[in-house]
Amino acid sequence: MNEAIKQKSEYCLNCKLKPCKNKGCPLENDIPEFIKQVKENNLEKAYEILCKTTVLPAICGRICPHEKQCQGSCIRGIKGEPVSIGELEAYVGDYAIEHNLKIEKQIDEKLKNKKVAIVGGGPAGLTCSAFLAKCGIDVTIYERYDFLGGLLSYGIPDFRLPREVIKNSIQKILDLGINVKYNQKLGENLKLEDLTKTYDAVFLAFGANIPIKLNVQGENLKGVFGANELLEKKNHPNYNGKIVFVNGGGNVAIDAARTMKKMGAEKVIVTYRRSREQMPAEKKEIEDAIKEKIEFLYQNNIVKINGTEKVESIELIKTKLIQKEGETRLSPVNIEGSNYVLNADYVVMALGSKTEENINKLGLELTPRQYIKIEENFRTSNEKVFAGGDLAGEKKTVAWAAQNGREAAKEIIKYISK
Ligand SMILES: Cc1cc2nc3c(=O)[nH]c(=O)nc-3n(C[C@H](O)[C@H](O)[C@H](O)COP(=O)(O)OP(=O)(O)OC[C@H]3O[C@@H](n4cnc5c(N)ncnc54)[C@H](O)[C@@H]3O)c2cc1C
Ligand code: SF4
Repeated sequence: MNEAIKQKSEYCLNCKLKPCKNKGCPLENDIPEFIKQVKENNLEKAYEILCKTTVLPAICGRICPHEKQCQGSCIRGIKGEPVSIGELEAYVGDYAIEHNLKIEKQIDEKLKNKKVAIVGGGPAGLTCSAFLAKCGIDVTIYERYDFLGGLLSYGIPDFRLPREVIKNSIQKILDLGINVKYNQKLGENLKLEDLTKTYDAVFLAFGANIPIKLNVQGENLKGVFGANELLEKKNHPNYNGKIVFVNGGGNVAIDAARTMKKMGAEKVIVTYRRSREQMPAEKKEIEDAIKEKIEFLYQNNIVKINGTEKVESIELIKTKLIQKEGETRLSPVNIEGSNYVLNADYVVMALGSKTEENINKLGLELTPRQYIKIEENFRTSNEKVFAGGDLAGEKKTVAWAAQNGREAAKEIIKYISK
């Protein structure tokens, strides 16, 4: 085994309380136990342990926000550096791919004649499919594109998550015997009522990737884009020699900024209304962006985009941070009279995402913010239809989407076993 990996596994204390697992990891992966197996060079066993709770170790090991999740809860991190849990997980996931290790099945004979439809082949849909197929259930994924992976494939850029890792991880899941129907879009050539008639249960996992607007003057000018759409549809303009402003403070903003810089933009400036310490993006991503010469304008709000047909400049206003009653973090407030104008060619909004507008045509109850309303058991207002992942509007990360998929699979099994 790689000496560095061996040393990293030996650094784990195998704590009794396992805060990395119980508090940090959304999937509750048995982190100390899989690391113990890595330490003993038993990588097949380490993979088997991970497979009890996840089918995406090579992916989550690379792109989970570890500093906020498992590594953020690691006891070792109190006085020094936390255990490199992500790196160790990715190592085991890669080993499983290289050595063609299988996700173990535990067929339940009672479930063999049951059929479940999954709508959407992102992390939530893939994980739900895997945990159902493991038990012998006949699973069919309906996906609007001609490829699977969702935001893993068309959101997170390949310099953070290599396409080969996604392809191989998905193949391992499909090897469980899952059927896939491509180019099937719910609400267009696929109807929910047809699925509920044909299948014993349906799991909806079609995500929420429509960019949220800032609602400022000039936002409809040519040259203003939504980061999610730009990354998903890859219909980038020519960035060569251009000045690009990216508005937002999360991973999507940093991914968009780094992508545009790599595609030749002269200057990429991330504007964020709060301070650097408050930025939700991973520290490592911010550091990498700084190394790549991306600039940051903290405590600035865009108030107007100027231009006749296309973007020519943006008007910004500085903010100060104040403690508002009932708020857990400092809130930005515009400093009157601090407005200034900077030249710009493109403005990219990375302010979060929402569901598609026609979601209300599914006939399911929605939340006030237009997400699909689900109960604790992932059930929607239609008893045969379950849902999870980004479309439910909760914590939007891969691990949480996968956790929803896995837990929904358990609830679906309970429902169809009745
Ligand atoms: C740029 C970017 C970077 C990110 N970086 C990270 C990161 O580093 N770490 C992290 O944990 N999270 C990250 N995220 C968030 C993460 O990718 C999502 O939370 C996660 O992918 C949500 O999974 P999901 O399965 O719910 O939805 P999605 O991944 O959106 O998958 C939905 C699937 O449903 C399909 N679909 C959509 N509509 C229909 C329809 N009508 N009919 C049939 N199929 C449909 C889609 O094509 C897709 O395959 C990032 C997101 C973005 C946009
Ligand atoms: S908290 Fe850190 S040291 Fe303790 S078991 Fe988890 S990874 Fe190991």
